[in-house]
Amino acid sequence: MAISNFSILRTPEAHNEPVKDYAPGSPERARLQARLRSMQEERIDIPMVVGGKEVTSGDIYEAVMPHKTKHVLGDVHQGSAEHFEQAATAAREAHRSWAALPWEARASIFLRAADLLAGPWRDELNASTMLGQSKTAHQAEIDAACELIDFWRYNVEYMGRIYSEQPRSAPGMWNQMDYRPLEGFVFAVSPFNFTSIAANLPTAPALMGNTVVWKPSLTQSFSAHFTMKLLEAAGLPDGVVNMIHGAGPEIGEVALAHQDLSGIHFTGSSATFNWMWGKVGENIETYRNYPRIVGETGGKDFIVAHPSASVDALATAILRGSFEYQGQKCSAASRVYVPSNLWGAVRERLADQVGEIKMGDVADFGNFMGAVIDDRAFKKHSEALSEARSSDGFEIVAGGEVDDAEGYFVSPTVVRSDDPNSRLMREELFGPIVTTYVYNEGDFEEVLELVDTTSPYALTGGIFAADEEAVVMAKERLRFSAGNFYVNDKPTGAVVGQQPFGGARKSGTNDKAGSIWNLIRWASPRTIKETFAPPTDYKYPYMQPDG
Ligand code: NAD
Repeated sequence: MAISNFSILRTPEAHNEPVKDYAPGSPERARLQARLRSMQEERIDIPMVVGGKEVTSGDIYEAVMPHKTKHVLGDVHQGSAEHFEQAATAAREAHRSWAALPWEARASIFLRAADLLAGPWRDELNASTMLGQSKTAHQAEIDAACELIDFWRYNVEYMGRIYSEQPRSAPGMWNQMDYRPLEGFVFAVSPFNFTSIAANLPTAPALMGNTVVWKPSLTQSFSAHFTMKLLEAAGLPDGVVNMIHGAGPEIGEVALAHQDLSGIHFTGSSATFNWMWGKVGENIETYRNYPRIVGETGGKDFIVAHPSASVDALATAILRGSFEYQGQKCSAASRVYVPSNLWGAVRERLADQVGEIKMGDVADFGNFMGAVIDDRAFKKHSEALSEARSSDGFEIVAGGEVDDAEGYFVSPTVVRSDDPNSRLMREELFGPIVTTYVYNEGDFEEVLELVDTTSPYALTGGIFAADEEAVVMAKERLRFSAGNFYVNDKPTGAVVGQQPFGGARKSGTNDKAGSIWNLIRWASPRTIKETFAPPTDYKYPYMQPDG
């Protein structure tokens, strides 16, 4: 391929996509509502995509609306080991030309995708995310539109910065870094809860010149289908991202035994990631390269309040941080430590406001919450609530109801636990259930120790305090307890380019999605040294005879 440009290019400076508010009477509200209506009248076929071609299998998974489980949005064609092999071959075939394309052409494709999403594709991705994943208009907008646009724009800027990072050259030589893609294919495996994260998992490696096999979550396959269509519209060449649907373990088994596996880009639960990492160990002799393993996983995210905290700010952070998108954010607050001097007022505020929260069909814009994703999640949350209701040491302060007659509805729930180490304080439930522990207001230091040691995760967390010394102490004592730490703010809502996201311990490899740190993992640098006037005699001067 001929190089078309001799300039040393600078990428456009990225900026965050403004969030539209969908207020009554706004044009965006009318457009989105129209697309929600038309999408619900269709029942589409959702094929796999291999080498740019749509592939059907006839092995159907029905993609339903979590809030109206009898309504099927699409028929998803699930793949087998054979389909995976075809996708890996397509990725290999596309690798040569994609890796050789000038980097600015790759940048243009993803900048175009960002602008298409900011414009004509916004309603497609927002509506499919609302219906398929039960997100409200606002939750879909900040995810499927804004965060994904931000990922694509910022990643392009970060790629430019990586490529401009070059070594020093001593006199007589020129040292260069060639940021090659990895050799082989990247296996991108995505969770159900964010359309943006799901799309970023295959596209961040693709932007860096890799080719990818993407396995979305079956419960996100509806919006994943529209994401693939958008990438196609943006001009992504065939075979760069190949999409295979199916049950995780079945596809995972084949993918992780493939000799050309060059990397894993995963977001999902710690249990799945542990399994994948184990498989890589088992298959290590098989691979041509040591695969890069990047995984962002679970959380048991905390809010700790100091006796000086504002009750209003704390209660609002708990309500938004724990219940938006039904608590199905890896960053959602799910354990809260409240000092005894504030508990009475916080409890009253939470009980009143939880009672006001509207939950239901997300196409009704009056609702603050939709349904949880599937029957498995519904069962898990129902069991946790039964445990809280029937065991000593728990009190349900607000909520606590479940109802799956129409959809998987779990009401926003505040539980109080007498035991700071109870299961509800330790384990990730990934639903609209927040557990509080009331500590003696004089025991702030002890409670920080408790926060740090209670759960195996270290994803997000926050301190609420007016007292600056308390903030300083919390920052220091909780330094390793969260990869994203908030002061007087809820622990959710990280913005690309502003709060790079990821945690350590059992929350993942902390490669910070949507940051330069993540993109670096998708390059395998080659160092080149060119010498201008090479020596022509092997003997060094010290070897000359004295005299
Ligand atoms: P999950 O682990 O059940 O599934 C994630 C993906 O892995 C799905 O595509 C699934 O099909 C696939 N999978 C499952 N078993 C597999 C296997 N054996 N081999 C290969 N693939 C397999 O997670 P989920 O329920 O979709 O998502 C929720 C989880 O994701 C929560 O734990 C949440 O905290 C986490 N999450 C973390 C972040 C973060 O940035 N840290 C962001 C979003 C979600």
